[in-house]
Amino acid sequence: MPVTETLSAFRQLLGAGNVLTKPEDLIPYSFDGTAALSQLPGCVLFATKTEEIAAVLKLANQARTPVVTRGSGTGLSGGSIPCPDCAVLCLTRMNRILELDRANLTMLVEPGVTTQAIADAAAAVGLFYPPDPGSMKISTIGGNVAENSGGLRGLKYGITRNYVMGLEVVLPDGEILWTGNKCVKDVAGYSLRDLFIGSEGTLGVITKVLLRLIPKPAAKKTMVATYADMGQAAQTVSDIIAAQIIPCTLEFLDRTTIRCVEDFAKVGLPLDCEALLLMETDGHPAPVAEEAAKMEELARKNGALEVRLAKDDAEATKLATARRSAFSALARLSPTTILEDATVPRSELAKMIRFVAEVAKKYNLRVGTFGHMGDGNLHPTFLTDERNKDEMHRVEEAFKEIFDEAIRLGGTITGEHGVGVAKKSFLPKFAGDAQMRVMRELRRTLDPKGILNPGKMFD
Ligand SMILES: Cc1cc2nc3c(=O)[nH]c(=O)nc-3n(C[C@H](O)[C@H](O)[C@H](O)COP(=O)(O)OP(=O)(O)OC[C@H]3O[C@@H](n4cnc5c(N)ncnc54)[C@H](O)[C@@H]3O)c2cc1C
Repeated sequence: MPVTETLSAFRQLLGAGNVLTKPEDLIPYSFDGTAALSQLPGCVLFATKTEEIAAVLKLANQARTPVVTRGSGTGLSGGSIPCPDCAVLCLTRMNRILELDRANLTMLVEPGVTTQAIADAAAAVGLFYPPDPGSMKISTIGGNVAENSGGLRGLKYGITRNYVMGLEVVLPDGEILWTGNKCVKDVAGYSLRDLFIGSEGTLGVITKVLLRLIPKPAAKKTMVATYADMGQAAQTVSDIIAAQIIPCTLEFLDRTTIRCVEDFAKVGLPLDCEALLLMETDGHPAPVAEEAAKMEELARKNGALEVRLAKDDAEATKLATARRSAFSALARLSPTTILEDATVPRSELAKMIRFVAEVAKKYNLRVGTFGHMGDGNLHPTFLTDERNKDEMHRVEEAFKEIFDEAIRLGGTITGEHGVGVAKKSFLPKFAGDAQMRVMRELRRTLDPKGILNPGKMFD
């Protein structure tokens, strides 16, 4: 049924002020962080309670109205792009921290709380919520869970999945389900919690998240090393890991990205280099000092042009913020910025970085590459213009080669941004027939009418 026929029922459920229908009001919800994708929805709904979401989904399911759940819309795979004539269910108004349990080191939150607000609330009581996507100031925890987002500290601390202990989820027919709890150990039944993490809004709407917190590390050292050659930076990373040091951050920027970031953030990054490594180690003061000294030694052994240690917390934060601004900084250079996150085993990283540069040259494209070097997670970012059809075609061809190479090297088509619409054509090749069949059957079982985020991940 077209969404127009369910509008009055949505208004009754949520109040007229929580249902947007005017085209000018719908425009901000017609795109996310992914370039060259947009679609106006039929309406936008704001919910503030789980029960409202249950009622909305029950109605949408009966009427077969598609529902696209949305957090802050920072996704980079088109996950929250509306489908035609759908209802966008925006959860940014469900933004309360419901409980901080210091005895069990957990936090219970609504899905619209920003990642930064969670990190700040934990830090205020001496605790630590480690997942830190570059978008953390605006991304919501619901979006983080739905995408299983990573961040700059993934190497040592893991990703969103590692900090989710429980979820409240509204199923497509409106039934409310709780999965997980505050127990550190729980093996009763299948882990449905793990099924919903990374489900990209296709299996249910996440309405509460129970998060695990850890003690805040007492000390941290941050340093930047620059190189004349990307291979030297990659070798430094391999040597650090081989020395059995797991830093919390091992990020890299290539020449193009360094220049853009410096121009944007003005933190005094050295410009006369091909590669830059941002390295951070944290924990108890003595091992941190020891690890930082060893990391500096390995950086120098691999020919670093300069190794600069942040002199205080303020400088360390400035450097990390500069790295977080990489995507926004590159986006200033061209009308369209297409960023991907091909990921390979760490041992293949230098090969993959070289391959990206060769492919860019082959297709005559401008590329800036940065990413989470310690995780093997690359963000090759093509600087283009979606109005230039020929160039856009070359970008598509370049990405096909990059994903093929990532798969060939034992990697994946997405390390953290999800499949969404942007990568769904690559999923069958990566996942294979058996996985595709099981995923399709799971989705059909939970959402037999296919109302939740249709067209995402797979058709
Ligand atoms: C500048 C920038 C930097 C970024 N850096 C990183 C990074 O370092 N690491 C990383 O992993 N990602 C990164 N991202 C991508 C993005 O921020 C993450 O995917 C983030 O988790 C999306 O959160 P959101 O609230 O914006 O979700 P949205 O974009 O609104 O939605 C993303 C997906 O989640 C679904 N969804 C949202 N909320 C819910 C819910 N409550 N229940 C069910 N499904 C839901 C949507 O349907 C959609 O499929 C970056 C993006 C930008 C723009």
